[in-house]
Amino acid sequence: MICYVPAEQAPGEPRAALTPTTAQALVKLGLTVRAQPGVGRASHYSDADYAAAGVVFDADHASSLAAADLVFRVRKPAVDEIARLKRGAVHVSFLDPFNEPALLAAFAQAGVSAVSLEMIPRTTLAQKMDALSSQASLAGYAAVIQAAARLRMALPMMMTPAGTIMPARVFIIGAGVAGLQAIATAKRLGARVEAFDTRPVVEEQVKSLGAKFVKIDLGQTGQTAGGYAQALTPEQIAKQQAGMAKVIAQSDIVITTAKVFGRKAPRLVTKAMLDGMKPGSVVVDLAIESGGNVEGSKPGEDVVTPNGVTILGNANLEASVAFHATQVLAANFAAWTTHFWDDQAKTLKLDLNDEILKGCLITHGGAIVHPQFAPKNS
Ligand code: NAD
Repeated sequence: MICYVPAEQAPGEPRAALTPTTAQALVKLGLTVRAQPGVGRASHYSDADYAAAGVVFDADHASSLAAADLVFRVRKPAVDEIARLKRGAVHVSFLDPFNEPALLAAFAQAGVSAVSLEMIPRTTLAQKMDALSSQASLAGYAAVIQAAARLRMALPMMMTPAGTIMPARVFIIGAGVAGLQAIATAKRLGARVEAFDTRPVVEEQVKSLGAKFVKIDLGQTGQTAGGYAQALTPEQIAKQQAGMAKVIAQSDIVITTAKVFGRKAPRLVTKAMLDGMKPGSVVVDLAIESGGNVEGSKPGEDVVTPNGVTILGNANLEASVAFHATQVLAANFAAWTTHFWDDQAKTLKLDLNDEILKGCLITHGGAIVHPQFAPKNS
């Protein structure tokens, strides 16, 4: 079986789906691992190290795609690349499936089995292959580092002969995987940290990291069976905004990570709230890719408001720590492969009754098989 890992094509995407360590593990399973030269260069993995791990390089991308039984890549492919794949090939990547109906249709038409990393269930069994978590964790860390670098203040309290420097105040909105890592990072840097999440179960986790949980009574909130937040009503969002306004006005850094799986992110930080912040404050909108939590945030751009608040809209903060983002992402790919590997036959065996596969397999055998994305009347 041939596994092919192309270099990422999207501008500003330094991550790769393979490291020399995971390549070695895949070769050991019995796969032939091919890659495009320079596959890990932008995240500081050298071709020489991949070659030493058993990777075969081929600069002819089109022929490598055509020969592959299994393709691993970070970002979704261009639609015209899908037709180049073999029928029956398996393609694993982030797919943005809620927003890419044409891409899913192209995979089905090409007879390719497309696996979406976003749809891997958030279960204990699937933890090792949970790419959303591995990347969100680093994004949460990077959000604090980037904000701290822009803030013209120190984060920790400092008692100096020249006077006392008070700790910076950091407010984290949404305390899932990214938010909890942001809380932990800001605490380590000595900031005074507060956080809010609509899922009541999160309060204990926030407190255990030494941060204060901001209490806002929104009435009935909760989480789905998969652990995701439920969408709020417009009235609940208004209540939440009123409850957060004062904390936001006092904060030096606000990091928003509030997402509702498969839907547009709620707009939580309004222009009026930004107007109430101190000049020089920094807001990081980690939900930018799904529409953004912050009014006026722009994907891939820093926006400075008239009163001097900087809003960071970088959609790929994990890219700023690409070496480690690639390390853990590649480990997610290797864990996925190992789970579905038939060691006797030395091949990938897709068991359609497997709970993990049922969650993340979008197209198979020429059709869209995932119930959330299948055309409604077929
Ligand atoms: P996510 O990225 O979908 O959302 C981020 C956070 O935003 C969540 O905590 C959510 O509750 C919160 N949020 C949504 N609307 C909000 C609002 N209006 N105001 C404030 N916060 C809001 O979530 P995630 O980080 O991917 O985590 C989703 C769930 O999956 C969590 O329960 C997490 O613990 C769980 N999880 C489980 C496993 C596992 O068991 N293997 C692995 C990873 C995550």
